[in-house]
Amino acid sequence: MVCEYKGCNLENFEENDYCILHLDFPPYESDPEFIRINALKEKAVENKISNRDYNFKGVILYNANFNELKIKNDLIFTNSYIKNDFNGKRSEINGDIWFDGVKINGNCLFEQSKISGTASFFKGEVKGNINFDKSSIGKYAWFEEFKANGEASFNHTVIGSSLSLKKSFIEDNVSFYGAKIGGYAWFDEAFIGGNTWFDLTDIKGGLSFKKTVFKNIRGKERAYRSAKIVWERLGDRDRGDYHFYHEMEAKRKQKPFYIRYPELIVQYPFGYGVHPSRLLFTFLGVLILFGLIYWFIKGNYSMNDLFENMRFSFLTLIIPAYGVINAKSGILGIFIIIEAFIGAFTWPTFIVTFARKYMR
Ligand SMILES: [Zn+2]
Repeated sequence: MVCEYKGCNLENFEENDYCILHLDFPPYESDPEFIRINALKEKAVENKISNRDYNFKGVILYNANFNELKIKNDLIFTNSYIKNDFNGKRSEINGDIWFDGVKINGNCLFEQSKISGTASFFKGEVKGNINFDKSSIGKYAWFEEFKANGEASFNHTVIGSSLSLKKSFIEDNVSFYGAKIGGYAWFDEAFIGGNTWFDLTDIKGGLSFKKTVFKNIRGKERAYRSAKIVWERLGDRDRGDYHFYHEMEAKRKQKPFYIRYPELIVQYPFGYGVHPSRLLFTFLGVLILFGLIYWFIKGNYSMNDLFENMRFSFLTLIIPAYGVINAKSGILGIFIIIEAFIGAFTWPTFIVTFARKYMR
């Protein structure tokens, strides 16, 4: 009989439907049967390695020890289940590593390894940390929809092409200190629970945190600042502005409440100087609101008078002194001063924002 795992042609183990590698463990680790099966699994892995067969698709192992191995082709662990750690430190892999849909209950460690091709962990899950410190990945690092309950560490890692952690979930810190990335680094729609380090990271393409969710506000600020610097250096002002806006928002949220809340005015109506359209709406809103207030207070409800009050509101906004000089006393005078005050800030910000966005 042959193992029932699709594509596996090993003989089934004893009375089971599966071979020793695809066979599930008994429930208790202290069970002598568990220990016997684990020893046989380890032996089967050794056999495969000595035959230079590195296709471990769908296998169930307790520990995976691939430290200091030299592998001429791909290392395949697609849809496998490792009950403890995966160790691949200081190994040399001439092909790709395929870990799509893998489940690792411990850590996944690839420190100081050399992978010539792509590292793919699409929909993989690691309960502990994932670590590629000081390793190199020749082509792509593909971690979309990947999940780690610990840290994701890529310090001093060299990635030849692009990196993607789109829609991934990293519960703890994300660290790319001193890493080199030949293409883009995408973190769009990902969740990051801990702090972030992108200091001294050299990214040739760009660094994107579009719609990324951060639990740690300090981590958010650091990530968006790094991304802003990368995009500005590349001359992509729109993406630079997007990341600057979120950096400012993260900074605001860390301030004491008596600054945090008043600063909302700078964030929403003013858009931290990167959203001219928002400013335009704010400007028009204030113009119409105050025009209507003056019209209402003066109590002369003709269309002609409405137009006259809108004109007065507009002039007060763009030339604050105009309104104040013509200010009446009483309640009307107070509203004119308020509008003049708003205008003194809004109009220059409007000009600066427009000039920054559309002029060189
Ligand atoms: Zn099998």
